[in-house]
Amino acid sequence: MILIDGKKEAAEIREKLKKEVSQIKKEKNQVPGLTVILIGDLAPSQIYVRMKEKAAIEVGLKSEIIKYPDSIDEKSVLDKISELNKDNSVSGILVQLPLPKHIDKKKVIGTISPNKDVDGFHPHNVGNLSSGYESIVPCTPLGCYLLIKKYEKNLSGKKAVVIGRSNLNGKPMTQLLLKENCTVTITHSKTKDLKSECLKADIIVAAVGIPELVKGDWVKKDSIVIDVGINKTDKGIVGDVAFDEVSKVAKALTPVPGGVGPMTIACLLKNTINCFKKIYN
Ligand code: NAP
Repeated sequence: MILIDGKKEAAEIREKLKKEVSQIKKEKNQVPGLTVILIGDLAPSQIYVRMKEKAAIEVGLKSEIIKYPDSIDEKSVLDKISELNKDNSVSGILVQLPLPKHIDKKKVIGTISPNKDVDGFHPHNVGNLSSGYESIVPCTPLGCYLLIKKYEKNLSGKKAVVIGRSNLNGKPMTQLLLKENCTVTITHSKTKDLKSECLKADIIVAAVGIPELVKGDWVKKDSIVIDVGINKTDKGIVGDVAFDEVSKVAKALTPVPGGVGPMTIACLLKNTINCFKKIYN
């Protein structure tokens, strides 16, 4: 079984991006900038934002975090985003989710300029992706896609099963696999007999949030299994795939941690640099 080392792959991507940023700096005397808006004091959000900032600085990006208390009103946030949209030193804008209840996620995402929407959540980018046009792709599915492509160059005609239909993961993942001419089945909590769907798959992407849902006898021999899940359990952090069982059957499998997670951040940096290049040109 091939252990798909997302940590190593992400480090290679970051190294390439570092060189790219230094080249941009030399040629244009500018560096791409990532601005993150963090509202409230949820511990996981604070950790994710710190990780993003550290990674951005490491590749040489300009990184800014704008922090607001939970009590901030929606208009102030929307006004700030509009200001950042016009600021040429800002290439990418990310609003860390989840948001406090009184702030409308749809309005916030819709206010970010589609050209600076490094998360790829703006309806403009979602529409482009589902139409098969060029778009900014959400970071986690983009990371999964790059890992799959690393181990399987030709995906045409492969049967893929995506577990989960969130806007964040399942839906964009489905679009990326469709673009590669996979035959994709998207499954969710109302899917009947998920096991038999999985058993048909050459590629499984699990983005559910249920610890070790995908068992060894759900997986066809020689399939590629990508585990997006991050679940806190008594055993520590585990994915949506029962790693020990599935590793005995699959051709290739991502570990948790060290699989998809590091790729998400690397792809955020990649998206930021691509936004800079697009705006600059
Ligand atoms: P989400 O928004 O909660 O969506 C979960 C999806 O799973 C939903 O579509 C849901 O179906 C489906 N589902 C729930 N129970 C199911 C079942 N028994 N069988 C089949 N499908 C089922 O979750 P998410 O934001 O996509 O995140 C999924 C997981 O990925 C979480 O563990 C999260 O922490 C992790 N994650 C990891 C990264 C990373 O960088 N590695 C990034 C983001 C998220 P319905 O639509 O019918 O409710």
